[in-house]
This record gives sequence, structure tokens and C-alpha cells, in this order.
Amino acid sequence: MIVMTGLCKSYGAIEILRGCDLTVERGEVVVICGPSGSGKSTLIKCINGLEPFGRGSLIVDGMDIGARRADLTGLRARIGMVFQHFELYPHLTVMENICLAPLRVLKRPRDQAEAKAEALLARVGLPDKAKAYPAELSGGQQQRIAIARALAMDPVAMLFDEPTSALDPEMIGEVLGVMQELAQDGMTMAVVTHEMGFARRAADRVVFMDQGVIVEVAPTEAFFAAPKSERARLFLSRIL
Ligand code: ATP
Ligand code: MG
Repeated sequence: MIVMTGLCKSYGAIEILRGCDLTVERGEVVVICGPSGSGKSTLIKCINGLEPFGRGSLIVDGMDIGARRADLTGLRARIGMVFQHFELYPHLTVMENICLAPLRVLKRPRDQAEAKAEALLARVGLPDKAKAYPAELSGGQQQRIAIARALAMDPVAMLFDEPTSALDPEMIGEVLGVMQELAQDGMTMAVVTHEMGFARRAADRVVFMDQGVIVEVAPTEAFFAAPKSERARLFLSRIL
């Protein structure tokens, strides 16, 4: 699903990603962790074409996204993305937020789009919020709506960048619960998070980044039992 080879990215003279190799198979869940500034967000944004990159290659859902003529708009329609800040449209209801892209981009008939939105609202545990505005919802509810909105496009994969780090502690669990179900249903996911409980429960593999390098990729159990690198060991000892 995602094949990244030797990916490099610089801002001016500063190298942000320095030769990252990563493969994510269809149906696989990969958690990406590492210290602040290590390049996790940049890596995720490269995967759906939000950030151009320099050397290296990146194939996502069969598309070479480094190619000059890559259809990045088409790619983004197939890859769901959920950020730290929910970024719902404040002037639209929950239903309108979820239906906007399916109506405009996929040209789905309104009754179909709304039926799907209703099903997704039930799936994220918010069946009665269709008519609410984002400001009327808690942070955890807004983030679950953001997940439903991404799922409304029938994505082939979902990317998450610290989806719970802006939430109050009591709301983190409800968002992670929705993500865990998604993982169990077979969604291909790349998740930047420091929620190591979630990683243990849902991830097939854990990726540890430091200073623009993927230092370690390991099956979840092996990573937590005994990280190979000293840097990952130190990181885990600080956050666990
Ligand atoms: P955090 O855990 O704090 O979110 P991160 O691992 O997601 O960190 P990135 O946001 O990918 O890290 O940033 C990696 C490096 O790239 C940082 O040193 C950051 O300062 C730099 N960087 C990110 N965006 C830009 C930009 N637009 N211009 C210049 N430098 C940038
Ligand atoms: Mg980040």
C-alpha cells in the first residue's frame, strides 16, 4: 500500500528526512513515534502528497507520488487524514461536514451521501449529532466526527497525526476506541501517536524516528519487549 524508499526532504539547507525506508502493507497498522522534531509529521504529510520531497521514491496505492504528473488530488481523495486539530468547518453542521467531499469530489447523490454519513455517525458512537455544529461538541466528539468525515470518502488508507494530543484525558479513550475498531476492521493505518497503550493494542509494527531517520521498525511486541536501539530505549523510558 505504501512503499517508501530512501525518502529525503529538506527545508532550505536543513535536512528534515534523511533517507527513510518504510513499507506498509494493505490492512496493516503502523504506529510512528519519536521525539519532537524528529520528522514524524513531515513523513506523514509526504505520504498523501501534502509535502513535496527531494530524493527517494514513494509509491502509495500504486501511484508514484514523486512523479511530475502524479494526480495528488486524486490520491488525497483516497487517503484519509486526521490531524491533531480537528479542522471541521465551523459554519457547517456535522452532516454537512461529512457529506461535503463525497458530494463535491465523488459526485455522490445526496441521499446516498447522507445515508452513509448516518451509518458512519453510528460507527463513531454519535448517531444523534447530525444536526449539531462543531462548536456544540466536545473535542473528543469533534475528533470522532473528523474520523467519520475521512471515512465518508471510502479511503484505502488512513493517516493520523497525533489525533489525541489536543484532547483532555477523559476524551482520549473514546477517540482511540474508534481508531482501534477501525484497525480491527482491517483499515490500513499509519498513526503518529505517543499513546503507547494504543500502539500495543492496535499496531502490527512500531516505527521509531529520531532526527529525520527511521531508527527502528519492529513488530509491536518485540519493540516494547526490547527495543534494539539505545535511542528508542531512552525514548520509551521517558514516556512510559
Ligand atoms: P512533533 O512531535 O513536535 O510534532 P515531528 O516529529 O512531527 O515533531 P516535524 O513537524 O516533522 O517533527 O518537523 C521536523 C523538523 O522539520 C523540525 O525540526 C521542524 O522544525 C522542521 N520543520 C517542519 N516544518 C517546517 C517548515 N515549514 N519550515 C522549516 N522547517 C520545518
Ligand atoms: Mg508532529
